[in-house]
Amino acid sequence: MEMDSTIATLNSHQLELVTRARSLAEQKFASRAPHYDREAIFPAEDFVDLHHEGLLGTAVPATFGGLGLGPYRGDVMPLWLMTKEFAKADLSLARCWEGHCNSMVLIDGMGTEAQKKRWFSRVVNQGETWVAWSGEPQSRATSEKVAFGTTTTRVHGGYVVNGNKAFATSAGGAHWAILLVSTAGPGGARHMGGSPESLLLLACDLSHPSIQVDPSWWDPIGMRGTASHVVKFDHTFIPDENIIGSPGQYLAEGWQTCFIPHYAATFLGAAEKAYEFALNYVRSQNKMADPYIQHHIGQSAINVETGYLWLHHVAKMWETGRHDQAQLAGSRARHVMEYLAEDTVKRSIRACGARSLNRPSPLERIYRDLSLYVRHDNDDHLLATIGKSLMGQQHDPSFFKP
Ligand SMILES: Cc1cc2nc3c(=O)[nH]c(=O)nc-3n(C[C@H](O)[C@H](O)[C@H](O)COP(=O)(O)OP(=O)(O)OC[C@H]3O[C@@H](n4cnc5c(N)ncnc54)[C@H](O)[C@@H]3O)c2cc1C
Repeated sequence: MEMDSTIATLNSHQLELVTRARSLAEQKFASRAPHYDREAIFPAEDFVDLHHEGLLGTAVPATFGGLGLGPYRGDVMPLWLMTKEFAKADLSLARCWEGHCNSMVLIDGMGTEAQKKRWFSRVVNQGETWVAWSGEPQSRATSEKVAFGTTTTRVHGGYVVNGNKAFATSAGGAHWAILLVSTAGPGGARHMGGSPESLLLLACDLSHPSIQVDPSWWDPIGMRGTASHVVKFDHTFIPDENIIGSPGQYLAEGWQTCFIPHYAATFLGAAEKAYEFALNYVRSQNKMADPYIQHHIGQSAINVETGYLWLHHVAKMWETGRHDQAQLAGSRARHVMEYLAEDTVKRSIRACGARSLNRPSPLERIYRDLSLYVRHDNDDHLLATIGKSLMGQQHDPSFFKP
């Protein structure tokens, strides 16, 4: 399998990290996942374990006490493989973990030395967790009674953020959030209408009394353990020392693009877990002589193998400094991986039958989680963005806006 050849490319330190992530995922995280899913709660115990294992600093530079992985650190494949291991146990945990690691990458790339010193030491030593929140969809869903959106106003010594955000992953669990907000009005980064220069990244201490988590909105089919609640900001003051980078830098430098293949790593985890589950299931039921099951297992294995090849391909671009190429290649990988993962999960269900969708089957949760998670970006627009880039048309490589 390609997994074996991917593993063979890792040095002993990288291999040890991935192995440590796998042990944690298999021995601790997998058994907690059904509870977090049912109750739609943040996987707090998992993050305590991640801290105790020294993994919260995985994407923190070594000079600040971390493990130094990341797309701009020339070492990203082990990070994605760790994410894949967590996704095999719990896709919601993987999303919270991605949010934390991506925040570390942003602070490393755009933060000042003083900010890095202040925030990284608290992550590494005190187990503080981070996430990045943009989500302010501007068109209201038919069932929604409130609109989403923040306003961000300049005041003496900082900014005041007022309003609410939805899809705030790790709400109630994370200690800090990087708020992607616009001085031009509501919309965050993804749905913003103003000029790119109006976009700010503000580090927000979530223990501030002006911030409230509203858990009444988040009751989705899947990804329930991400606790992606609505968060309300009641004139929250954010001091200048918490501004990350310069206005518009996030979009101008395409920072979102290095996180897009990270989603693909999580989708690969879903595919690999579904495939392994199906293989064990049909073996245990002695159904391996069925030619259709043979097809499903064969195709699923090829899907997983293809996923590894794509991740490896994109990781090599980041790791060898071919960042321009890597930016859109990551979207291609994410596009391919969405289809491979959904196909693998559906084939696994066909091979195993109805009881594989009866709780506590992991396949049942993966099916629900993946259905929601792939909606994080619209793949129709993502594919159109790749087409536009090939035809020399203007395109948005970060959020694939139509
Ligand atoms: C599990 C999960 C976790 C998430 N975590 C985070 C997080 O931590 N931080 C964060 O910032 N965000 C997060 N998101 C939110 C995500 O970034 C999106 O904002 C969210 O999924 C958008 O919701 P929507 O698809 O209902 O809304 P919409 O944005 O309304 O999209 C609905 C559809 O309309 C299309 N559309 C949008 N605008 C237009 C237009 N102008 N013209 C034509 N079509 C359009 C979209 O492409 C899409 O197909 C998360 C999402 C999920 C599913």
